[in-house]
Amino acid sequence: MEQFDVVIIGAGAAGLFCAAQAGQRGLRVLLLDNGKKPGRKILMSGGGRCNFTNLNIEPAAYLSANPHFCKSALARYTQWDFIDLVNRHGIAWHEKTLGQLFCDDSARQIVDMLVNECDQATVTLSMSSEVLSVTRQPQGFMLQLNQRAVFCPQLVIASGGLSMPGLGASPFGYQLAEQFGINIQPTRAALVPFTLHKPLLEQLQPLSGVTVPAVVTAENGSRFRENILFTHRGLSGPAILQISSYWHPGEFVSIDLLPDLDLAAQLEAQRQAHPNQSLKNTLALWLPKRLTEMLQTLGQIPDVSLRQLNSAQQQQLELNLHQWRVQPNGTEGYRTAEVTLGGVDTHALSSKTMEARQVPGLYFIGEVVDVTGWLGGYNFQWAWSSAWACAQALPYPLK
Ligand SMILES: Cc1cc2nc3c(=O)[nH]c(=O)nc-3n(C[C@H](O)[C@H](O)[C@H](O)COP(=O)(O)OP(=O)(O)OC[C@H]3O[C@@H](n4cnc5c(N)ncnc54)[C@H](O)[C@@H]3O)c2cc1C
Repeated sequence: MEQFDVVIIGAGAAGLFCAAQAGQRGLRVLLLDNGKKPGRKILMSGGGRCNFTNLNIEPAAYLSANPHFCKSALARYTQWDFIDLVNRHGIAWHEKTLGQLFCDDSARQIVDMLVNECDQATVTLSMSSEVLSVTRQPQGFMLQLNQRAVFCPQLVIASGGLSMPGLGASPFGYQLAEQFGINIQPTRAALVPFTLHKPLLEQLQPLSGVTVPAVVTAENGSRFRENILFTHRGLSGPAILQISSYWHPGEFVSIDLLPDLDLAAQLEAQRQAHPNQSLKNTLALWLPKRLTEMLQTLGQIPDVSLRQLNSAQQQQLELNLHQWRVQPNGTEGYRTAEVTLGGVDTHALSSKTMEARQVPGLYFIGEVVDVTGWLGGYNFQWAWSSAWACAQALPYPLK
């Protein structure tokens, strides 16, 4: 039977980084994964360029049943620490928007960096490894893998959430937590496009591909200002993905299609200059033409000239364009979601070490934990920060 100081299950963002850090501290690390290649989600991330962190990391950008939990780890291993690492590996990067940092070249560079760090730390990487069972022993954990058994005093679960099963996502981490009596906060797909009820979907489908800068507000008041994108299945784009994390079935979202425009003042100016111009064509000055046509078909824009537009109609128009209320019928689910909300209950973990309070030697890091970030590099930063906190806390084996 083989023995390691620590076994880490999941060679994604959190597992790779934790393995490298623990290995560099001198621990003998086994990092195993059920997939053929490490870091599959990293490779897919950020459109292939990996949005690896954000300049504006702050705890308020994370959702959790315990919003304070993420603070310690994020403060101890920051975005600046990860940027230093990326710089040390000579990886060129740029800020795209809203503090989001991407590789200039390819997400592959981040995976290569993490694998190199693991190699330097003589981490044993074992791909295509299935964990058949985990049993608690007096001094640690016995893992039955396909074709071998491994013992370790410390076990780290970095198996991620449920999003994108095609990239290896599995409920393993939640099931293991439950095996050890640890509560799971209810999970649901997040950072995910909305689907729409059939009548609205059929009306909006011709807009597929149209993008509009907007402010989208959830019923709890959370709001995001970014683009929305009409798709053949419903609504997507960064503002929609962000708000999906705050949306519950049955709720409405409110969309301000003209967030920067004083519509009343602009209409008045246009009315003075072109009183006979149609309202629809006037609005096309500020909105995509296909969208104004669609909104007129939907009855949101009256078929009148500026001269004919009365004050009641104008008030309603302002509501329709600044607070367009849409009730999604659902989301596209885990198939396309970037992340999973909920997960291992943080009340069961130490925020300093990620160790389970009731199960010494068992740690949970990354997305499997009930900490979910906004779109824009926040989720990778949580993976790095939680992995680092765990790696620093792992004790050397008892002699
Ligand atoms: C398409 C896409 C794009 C994204 N883009 C970004 C982005 O640009 N920026 C950002 O911050 N976040 C992004 N995310 C989110 C980010 O990828 C995750 O939050 C992050 O990867 C979580 O890291 P993790 O290590 O906890 O889990 P993962 O990276 O998911 O790694 C978990 C690993 O565990 C393995 N595993 C699962 N079950 C088992 C099992 N039973 N046995 C053994 N191994 C197992 C999996 O194969 C996987 O390798 C994106 C997500 C997706 C899906």
